[in-house]
Amino acid sequence: MLTYSQPLYRPPSEARSLIFQITHGCSHNACTFCGMYTDKRFRMKPLETVLEEIQNIPAAYAATVRRVFLADGDATIYPTEKLTPILDALNAHFPALQRISAYVGRKALRAKTPEQWRELRQRKLSLLYFGLESGNEEVLELMNKGGSAAEAASLCQVVQQQGIALSVMVVLGGGGRRLAREHALDTARWVNQVNPRYLSLLTLFLRRNTSLFEQLEQPTWGSLAEETITLIQHIKGKNIIFRANHISNLVDLSGTLPRDRERLLSGLEAHRQKLLKSRAYDTVPEFYEEL
Ligand code: SF4
Repeated sequence: MLTYSQPLYRPPSEARSLIFQITHGCSHNACTFCGMYTDKRFRMKPLETVLEEIQNIPAAYAATVRRVFLADGDATIYPTEKLTPILDALNAHFPALQRISAYVGRKALRAKTPEQWRELRQRKLSLLYFGLESGNEEVLELMNKGGSAAEAASLCQVVQQQGIALSVMVVLGGGGRRLAREHALDTARWVNQVNPRYLSLLTLFLRRNTSLFEQLEQPTWGSLAEETITLIQHIKGKNIIFRANHISNLVDLSGTLPRDRERLLSGLEAHRQKLLKSRAYDTVPEFYEEL
């Protein structure tokens, strides 16, 4: 059966997918807050090994697989001329396969032409998870994301034009307290311009360089709630499936934007009022206090 190199990550929505590792680690591996792959040197699994692993999956199990998630952090960086035979082999070996998905980073977005994305889409690569983190350029620089929000918007639009849906991740608290409002407003503007199919919020945890907040001031429970409210208030896109139900989030939120905006905002306002009454509003969450 399959062997995995650890640590292995996948989005929560891929819980029922077959996780298939074609790269190890992240090709960027330099975001100041992220410690996911610090102990894992980036490398691509050789094409022959990948194809052999696919063939070795027993037919009885293969017949049940509907979704495949390609790991690790930036699997789409795999060169297109080698990725297409992998997708062909997955399609041939899994007769019920409906969807192939993967994380995409800025390097992979830059590396592929619209025609190459189309070729991959024709082979069922239909969903990419993209860590935008913020639509604010200053925040992105402090995070060392390796590219601007403006560039990411054009690259993401190219992918969407080829029929590949995007699930965009944003980190609450990414602008600390100092840039909380700009982080929320610029992120909403970015979302309105690109209109991804899915948008999810996570709360920032610093697992690498803990000096990020020296320049940004640590967020408080109140500033995180206000940032979420500002973001939702300003999203004007169409039919965006919105989730903030990651373990890191302070309040569970889910709906479709802009349709469910008022319901989401009234839940958040109730949460904000509770924080005010409990005097937790101006308190720095314990996971930042310890830094
Ligand atoms: S946040 Fe994503 S792109 Fe940045 S280092 Fe972590 S896995 Fe790589």
